[in-house]
Amino acid sequence: MPPIDVAIVGGGVIGLSIAFELAELSARTSCELTVSVFDPEPGKGTSRVAAGMLAPVTELHFSEEKFLPVTIAASAMYPEFVERVEAASGLKALYSGSGTLTVAKNASDMASLSQLLDLQESCGLLPGRMTPSAIRSAEPSLSTSLAGGFETPTDHQVDPRLLVIAMLGACEALGVRFVQETVAKIDKFDDGYEVSASRKIPSRFQSVVLCTGAALRDGTPAMPRVPSGIDPSIVEIVSSIRPVKGQVIRLGLPDSRSAFLPRLPRAVVRGLVDGRSVYIVPRASGEVVVGATSEDLGFDLNPTGGAVHQLLHDARSILPMIDELDFREVSVGLRPGTPDNFPVVGPIDQENSCGRLYIANGHYRNGILLAPLTARLIAWHMNQDCPKLFPALFKRSHLNLDPDSTPDTSVDGGSSTMALCDLADILSPSRYNSGQIPKVVAQNG
Ligand SMILES: Cc1cc2nc3c(=O)[nH]c(=O)nc-3n(C[C@H](O)[C@H](O)[C@H](O)COP(=O)(O)OP(=O)(O)OC[C@H]3O[C@@H](n4cnc5c(N)ncnc54)[C@H](O)[C@@H]3O)c2cc1C
Repeated sequence: MPPIDVAIVGGGVIGLSIAFELAELSARTSCELTVSVFDPEPGKGTSRVAAGMLAPVTELHFSEEKFLPVTIAASAMYPEFVERVEAASGLKALYSGSGTLTVAKNASDMASLSQLLDLQESCGLLPGRMTPSAIRSAEPSLSTSLAGGFETPTDHQVDPRLLVIAMLGACEALGVRFVQETVAKIDKFDDGYEVSASRKIPSRFQSVVLCTGAALRDGTPAMPRVPSGIDPSIVEIVSSIRPVKGQVIRLGLPDSRSAFLPRLPRAVVRGLVDGRSVYIVPRASGEVVVGATSEDLGFDLNPTGGAVHQLLHDARSILPMIDELDFREVSVGLRPGTPDNFPVVGPIDQENSCGRLYIANGHYRNGILLAPLTARLIAWHMNQDCPKLFPALFKRSHLNLDPDSTPDTSVDGGSSTMALCDLADILSPSRYNSGQIPKVVAQNG
């Protein structure tokens, strides 16, 4: 069989992880794929700004509880995913099983944290509540005046910048082709899709994956024009992906003061300070990321003095040694948000064509965490002979997450949805690595 040509539009953490997964799949199995990534600046989008927390539990928000099994499954895949990327690239991504500590500045912050703890407990999680003295003995450099908190040993971190560099290296090593061009439109033809990039003659691919995040090109949203024939409900979701501005600052210990490295917290520290959330992500390299704002301001990439002031103020009230760190950078990214904050992942065209048009976007606050899971689901779907499964996979209705919602049967014309336990089973690394992709137990909607 001739190889299947796949184009990936957008080389952020999502596009690169899909490219890597497909290229590796091709190298490892009889499924032959050639993979091209279109992006004028791969790895330079929001993924470069992210803090890199892998935090299904501490990122749990009210009304997003039903997405928890998906983020937990993603988190469980991470160590193995990073190992594979590092092995293929020979580069380190600084994954750290550091755990996370969440602290309250004062009694009213503690009352708000207690509501989050109740939410976690209602989801079957067992947060480890901590007194101020327990917090101090776990992390002696934290402020002496904290009101309390809890620990989450399973929420970890990775350095997204190193991860993206390692993924670029791994993709190159596996033969992925990079086309440093902006894609303006995608047209359908008999056996697949034609991709028109700015300065290139259009090229044809059997399958195309759209991973453009909330990126901007020349001042306008960067999503290429897609052909007609896409399910209108998906088009509506895709066109409503909104940019949510986030500002973070990067501080660090210079080499000359590396003796202070052991004084940095070991865990990621998240805090509530007078009702405002702040996080501090310390890395083994001495870098400390402090974030983040969340602003609905459209496509605005300007850093502001107010954000830097607030982040520094709140971080130093939790970790006084912030004052001793060098100020390195303020950066701004646009989180791709959907109306319900859940990503959209899966095929979006009609089933009758040989090739498929996929989307993997809307990963909002969790794109770094969800990248390996997204990649595996897309790779798995492409390598399957059962395209009726995984219609727009992550959408709430398709995951059967919301008992009140009716599964959307319009995409792929099927009503198959999948139970989360099956998802976890499918994603188990040992099963996947054995090359034996298990049969999905589909439920009828
Ligand atoms: C301040 C901040 C902190 C965050 N912290 C975390 C965190 O701790 N943990 C976590 O899991 N997530 C975090 N996130 C979220 C995470 O960064 C995003 O969900 C993730 O980066 C989205 O990745 P992406 O690949 O979809 O988008 P991007 O990284 O933005 O990549 C999109 C790429 O598409 C390219 N592109 C766009 N249009 C075109 C086109 N027409 N043709 C060709 N290429 C195109 C762009 O050049 C870009 O490289 C954070 C986000 C922000 C803003």
